[in-house]
Amino acid sequence: MSNVHRIGVGGIAIESSTFSPQTTRLDDFTVLAGAEMQSRYPFMPDWVFQGRTDVQWLPCIHARAIPGAPVAPETYAHLKTRLLAAIETVLPMDGFFLDIHGAMNVAGMDDAEADLAAAVRELVGPCCLIAAGMDLHGNVSRALVERVDIFTAHRLAPHDDAIDTRERSCALLLRCIDEGTRPARAWLRIPVLLPGERTSTLVEPAKSIYASLATESAIAGRGTVLDASLWVGYVWADEPRSSATVVVTGTDTTAIAAAAERVARRYWAARERFTFGTPAGDASWCIDSALEPGPTPVVISDSGDNPTAGGVGDVPHLLGHLVSHPKLREGGASAIFASIPDPDAVRAMVKAGTGAEVGVDLGGKLDPVNGSPLRVKGTVETVFLDDAVGGDLAVLRVGNVLVIVTSRRKPHHYLQDFTQLGLDPAACTVVAVKIGYLVPELRAIARRALLALTPGAVNQDIGSLTYTRVLRPMYPLDTEFGEPELRAELIS
Ligand SMILES: [Zn+2]
Repeated sequence: MSNVHRIGVGGIAIESSTFSPQTTRLDDFTVLAGAEMQSRYPFMPDWVFQGRTDVQWLPCIHARAIPGAPVAPETYAHLKTRLLAAIETVLPMDGFFLDIHGAMNVAGMDDAEADLAAAVRELVGPCCLIAAGMDLHGNVSRALVERVDIFTAHRLAPHDDAIDTRERSCALLLRCIDEGTRPARAWLRIPVLLPGERTSTLVEPAKSIYASLATESAIAGRGTVLDASLWVGYVWADEPRSSATVVVTGTDTTAIAAAAERVARRYWAARERFTFGTPAGDASWCIDSALEPGPTPVVISDSGDNPTAGGVGDVPHLLGHLVSHPKLREGGASAIFASIPDPDAVRAMVKAGTGAEVGVDLGGKLDPVNGSPLRVKGTVETVFLDDAVGGDLAVLRVGNVLVIVTSRRKPHHYLQDFTQLGLDPAACTVVAVKIGYLVPELRAIARRALLALTPGAVNQDIGSLTYTRVLRPMYPLDTEFGEPELRAELIS
């Protein structure tokens, strides 16, 4: 037993907007236990990593929810208890891979990830190495960095490297176990808090800054800097820990502090250059622009209510502008709206049946802070029962707008989400989606893309949100402040 390394795997992952009036409960989480967790780690077929037979990976519990509201305290307590119980059955261990997002908010608790890491640490003991693989939209407190030995985070946004991040984290953990090293961390908060839509790595300045992380890290070599990671943070969390952060992990404390300070200075210096990367404006401006002559389809992101960033998803603000636009009422233009959750409306449409005329009040019920129900009359175009994510679905034709209505929140990121309803987004003038920056399949069909700055729990106009708990000064909430020191703190 002594020459076999035992490494546990588990975590809880969600991104929670504290501006959402909803609560995330157990039903919202997908919980994978033991062998079921395999799907998250395709680089570890049959739990064998790097072909090593002297390492035993021990899957515990992984719980994940699509981004949303703060987690109910009893839900968090339940998931935490299950994770700890699963860990307890496979102790002792030499390492633990903590698979978290980093922007979970539990109602009434700040810094849920630090709470979770502390509980895991207590159970696995001081000698076990813990590695965290995170989303770059997480908020990383000093308390978290004190409890975890090795950090890494995504280097691409959109996160085409989500699996690579997990693999890198496991590789770093195994390397430290093999070498018998316990790395230190250089942690540095940058007083900048920007939305993901302004920090996409597809465009500058995030593209170059994130590319520089690979240079700062020397994973493949024998370097003393193991990993340099930069979190842009999660802007829709009014918590003291919310900000951009750098963590550099390694054994040479001078080198990791210097690397962290270089990355932080690059980010700070670029702060005014982070823009949306896509033409952005209010709902009417976006629709008018989309309907001007030019290549189609034009994909409009209904960004303030994007459920994949934590929005509630039922604010019918952009939808209201679409169905009332003269060119979409009777003109030659056409649009698809994807999508709005409203179980009552779906039930009424399913009952009426395909081809029936119905009047429904769409949305504005789950997020009454940012919207109110939109009265529309239309024809039921399609009914689709039992979608794995959205439940029963229906398509309502209102003028030339085809509105996808779902029973439960469902992101529309794949063409299959449209084609299964008989819809062809490429053939429309406008495709409006509750999303931020576009995911690959939507990017591929979009001949033009526009970002609608709409109301919601993830409003991109962050100056219009009320923050009371974020540490100040914080750019761009504050603009009049002097050069911050940007000194790394060493934690070991
Ligand atoms: Zn993210």
